[in-house]
Amino acid sequence: HAKSCGKNGFCWFETQMEDELQFRNSLESGIREGLAAGEFVPYYEQQIDLESGELTGFEMLARWHSPRLGVVSPEVFIPVAESIGVIAELSEQLIERALDDARDWDPGLTLSVNISPLQFNDPWFPQRLLKLLLKANFPPQRFEIEITESCLHDNVPLVRSMIVSLRNQGIKVNLDDFGTGYSSFAQLRSLPFDRIKIDRSFVGEIGREGSASQIVNAIVALGHGLGMPITAEGIEDDAILSNLRALGRIKGQGYIYGRPETVEEVRERLKGLGRLAQPAAPGDDSEP
Ligand code: C2E
Ligand code: MG
Ligand code: MG
Ligand code: MG
Repeated sequence: HAKSCGKNGFCWFETQMEDELQFRNSLESGIREGLAAGEFVPYYEQQIDLESGELTGFEMLARWHSPRLGVVSPEVFIPVAESIGVIAELSEQLIERALDDARDWDPGLTLSVNISPLQFNDPWFPQRLLKLLLKANFPPQRFEIEITESCLHDNVPLVRSMIVSLRNQGIKVNLDDFGTGYSSFAQLRSLPFDRIKIDRSFVGEIGREGSASQIVNAIVALGHGLGMPITAEGIEDDAILSNLRALGRIKGQGYIYGRPETVEEVRERLKGLGRLAQPAAPGDDSEP
């Protein structure tokens, strides 16, 4: 009906708003239905030790297999899930699936998951997470969470106690997308992160004109100075990879190693690498 409106464009605008509102409503109900129907699926991105080239673990990345919309990106559905209050439920459903998937993996491999600020700011979060790990019999030492700078509000002591309580359980806490938000040196100094992940917006520009290479060098030096190891995300080509390898012992991820994969694809990959979990000997139900 947009075409039947006046020449001032006002009706077009109104119609677009209506469409957006409708899309938003359908997203919200789709997410609620998708949660009940188990339509949210973990995909996995390889994490590589750049020095040895060895696979060290996987980052779980959420995908929504929506019957109406097809495969939907987390950039679309995570903010909506946050705003309608189902992010914790969604995340925990995905973590449970991922922990189950990871049973087939060599116990040297880690599993890393992204955590929303809304989850991280729940004082019960460490306990809820630990419960999932216990239920799946998954060693917390193999589990890592990734939080962004938006989790780091002004109450540094509170954030700190959250990180400390997770780390006391053996869970690693990594700072994701570093450089894009508002973290200060004061926060970095007082928050005991296990690792800093350099945002792909810097990594992707390494070797090009501009300051990205210098910024990456500085972040690596900062991390190493603070005793926090570094991961570079978004490595797309060989030139960037060799630049990064010259910076010392860091980890990396990116399309150069392939796109995020389904559980079946991961299984095939690990089979090829000889890194599937060894089946337990009969009658042996002890920890690996
Ligand atoms: P992130 O944690 O920083 O994840 C990296 C994103 O970069 C992923 O996008 C990944 O597919 C993409 N990527 C990886 N390598 C490359 C590369 O070489 N080039 C480029 N251009 N991109 C690359 P994805 O899967 O769309 O996820 C986007 C964001 O959504 C993630 O950013 C993360 O913040 C969030 N997210 C994903 N899964 C979850 C989840 O389960 N819970 C929460 N709260 N957030 C999630
Ligand atoms: Mg991440
Ligand atoms: Mg990131
Ligand atoms: Mg990101």
